[in-house]
Amino acid sequence: MKKIPSVKCDLLVVGAGVAGVAAAVAASRMGLKTILIEKTVFAGGLATSGMILHYLPLSDSLGRQVTFGIAEELLMESIKYGPGAIPPDWRMPKSGSRLGSRFSPASFVLALDEYLLRENVEVWFDTLLCAAKVSNGRLRSVEVENKSGRIKISADLFVDASGDADLAKFAGADFAEQTNYLSIWSLAVSLTAAKSACESGDGTKLLQLLHAGAGNAGGNLPQNAKKYLGTIGKEVSEFLFETRRILREKVIAEQSVHGKNNFYPIALPSMADFRTTRRVSGKYLLKTGEKWTHFDDCIGLVADWRGGWDIWEIPFRTLIPCEIRGLLCAGRCISSEGEAWEVTRVIQAAAMTGEVCGVAAAMSKKASICPDELPPGKLRAELSSRGYLLDLRELGEIPESAKKTEPKEEASHENFYDNA
Ligand SMILES: Cc1cc2nc3c(=O)[nH]c(=O)nc-3n(C[C@H](O)[C@H](O)[C@H](O)COP(=O)(O)OP(=O)(O)OC[C@H]3O[C@@H](n4cnc5c(N)ncnc54)[C@H](O)[C@@H]3O)c2cc1C
Repeated sequence: MKKIPSVKCDLLVVGAGVAGVAAAVAASRMGLKTILIEKTVFAGGLATSGMILHYLPLSDSLGRQVTFGIAEELLMESIKYGPGAIPPDWRMPKSGSRLGSRFSPASFVLALDEYLLRENVEVWFDTLLCAAKVSNGRLRSVEVENKSGRIKISADLFVDASGDADLAKFAGADFAEQTNYLSIWSLAVSLTAAKSACESGDGTKLLQLLHAGAGNAGGNLPQNAKKYLGTIGKEVSEFLFETRRILREKVIAEQSVHGKNNFYPIALPSMADFRTTRRVSGKYLLKTGEKWTHFDDCIGLVADWRGGWDIWEIPFRTLIPCEIRGLLCAGRCISSEGEAWEVTRVIQAAAMTGEVCGVAAAMSKKASICPDELPPGKLRAELSSRGYLLDLRELGEIPESAKKTEPKEEASHENFYDNA
């Protein structure tokens, strides 16, 4: 059989969503020769190709910033070419504002191109991960396909930021899967939005989100609505057809009120809007109910987007798959389930776990060890020097009433931003 061409790098990152971008940039800054592969032609993943244009907050509802680092840099990149702005009153507990923003997916793509080039990350767009090779329990190389054909990439370390744990699966790691309700986010133009923008002199009102289907907990759909697996080819196609069908229904309903020339869709997602597909079984599984829990290997804090009253610590072990060495997982495929998955899968949390994977990879490479051997204390010291908060107890006394507040459905944050 013909030998396929082969390249080598220090770190290979699979998937250029926010998690993969953060991982690759963090590692590159620490001197690792980093290759980032991406099957689409855009960086940003669901945030851009999926049209998920809400960068969820880095702060809680009491006006305290809890997530830092590249997650904050990416928030600023998302609004660099407009529209969007950080609400000036986000530090005020009763303002209802938080440190996040809406953004235009196209603007975010343009900013991410610049960001990745500036940080010397070697990006291979239009490149699909196809296979992985493991020997003696350690991931050694992968095979990818693009217009050049099949190519082998060997690396000392790997980050799975595919959102779907594709690399972990190819490597033979244990994982869990979850079904999803129909959901689709897209952009529309409307005369009503245009009038409102003109009257107020505020062009941000032109960025009109048009979504159909369910919130994260299935709201808006009948109770027995079918749920889909994003990890079976046939179901992915069915999901895409069905989501676009319900979007058509929504467009027709709007047009019956406003007319075809005054309301129409203008941009559709180019990847399926699955929230949760596959997540690795890591050295620790972060679970429902573990909000307000301190872990000695905490690598960062996330404020629950559903209300912002609850704070979660993310343990380093959720990024380390159980069986396969030399591999870290970032973003929406880390080891978390239930409520914890709801919190760790969103944009700012994905950027944070991405950065931590990049930093952990660089420190491991320097010490000639695998990430599972990296002392959490050393990693935490490095993250702390970057301004990370690593212990929720540093936030001070938490009001009992805040702890008891039950999280709400995703629609609540949409309203929050719509009203902001
Ligand atoms: C309907 C919906 C609403 C949401 N609402 C919000 C919200 O309001 N705010 C918020 O912050 N979050 C929201 N989220 C969640 C959020 O958008 C994502 O979970 C987050 O962006 C995940 O980032 P990621 O980098 O982990 O993964 P992804 O964005 O999924 O990125 C993974 C990347 O890997 C690439 N990839 C996958 N497989 C391969 C392969 N085999 N080879 C090469 N490349 C591959 C993909 O193309 C993609 O670019 C929502 C999600 C959905 C679906």
